[in-house]
Amino acid sequence: PGTDGVPEQLKLTDVFVAVKTSGKFHKTRLALLLDTWIARTKSHTYIFTDTADEDISSEGFNLVVTDCVSDHSQQGLSCKMSAEYDHFMASDKRWLCHVDDDNYVNGEALRGLLSSFPPEGSIYVGKPSLNQPITAHELLDPWNTTREVRFWFATGGAGFCLSRRLAEKMLPWARGKRFQQTSARIRLPDDCTVGFIVEYMLGDSLVHSPLFHSHLENLLLLSPASITQQATLSYGLLENKMNSIQLKGAFTEEEDPSRFRTVHCRLYPFTSWCP
Ligand code: UDP
Ligand code: MN
Repeated sequence: PGTDGVPEQLKLTDVFVAVKTSGKFHKTRLALLLDTWIARTKSHTYIFTDTADEDISSEGFNLVVTDCVSDHSQQGLSCKMSAEYDHFMASDKRWLCHVDDDNYVNGEALRGLLSSFPPEGSIYVGKPSLNQPITAHELLDPWNTTREVRFWFATGGAGFCLSRRLAEKMLPWARGKRFQQTSARIRLPDDCTVGFIVEYMLGDSLVHSPLFHSHLENLLLLSPASITQQATLSYGLLENKMNSIQLKGAFTEEEDPSRFRTVHCRLYPFTSWCP
């Protein structure tokens, strides 16, 4: 609470935004984000990668070089999520929001969503990629037997957020090496592991939000009028075809295939490079 007892409004700078990337994507994906939404959220956005990059660090971006392997394996990706979690816990931020390097983050929409939750609540919010809970087979020690467990998880490729209160409760399964051990225990990727800890271990529930978007959903279905209200957007392959939002604006499809520059200019028309 503020000094006058009134709860303080959530500020966007209270959100620790963690972006997962890899050296091979610094130029092909990350550069676009640095030019657009990260340019406006630089002070509280942390980029988790596997390769040092002086060009990026010297511009004042928070680049966290992990010693995670640079591949798409369960270990490599869980290792980065674990680093995101540990860095958030060591910070003074109120929310941890994870995104991939093919996501656009609409700061105002995200702040609006997060400020609708009680400030001390245990909140896990994002969009499930499946329309039902996932079934995992948890390895039990010491007999190498497994137990079937079902839980919802928010797809990492759409972005999701955890409140500090909930992140604190996750410590026994998520701190340091524990996160990767937990991930190995269910043999599923990092985003599933977060769902397992929150829903199965802690008994809290994912808040399903339609405001997060990955390229695993048909992005053409988003109406142009609603695009600026979304918390996250994405672009990439869906069934071997380029999937992106459809939004008319200053840039052609060739100039801006992801449409991220076009969205950015719609949201912030006074940006220097917007026409
Ligand atoms: N990624 C990574 N190392 C890799 C491959 C991917 O850290 O070797 C990250 C990538 O930067 C992105 C996320 O993992 O943030 C998902 O990768 P991608 O979009 O290529 O695959 P998807 O899972 O969406 O098909
Ligand atoms: Mn992707």
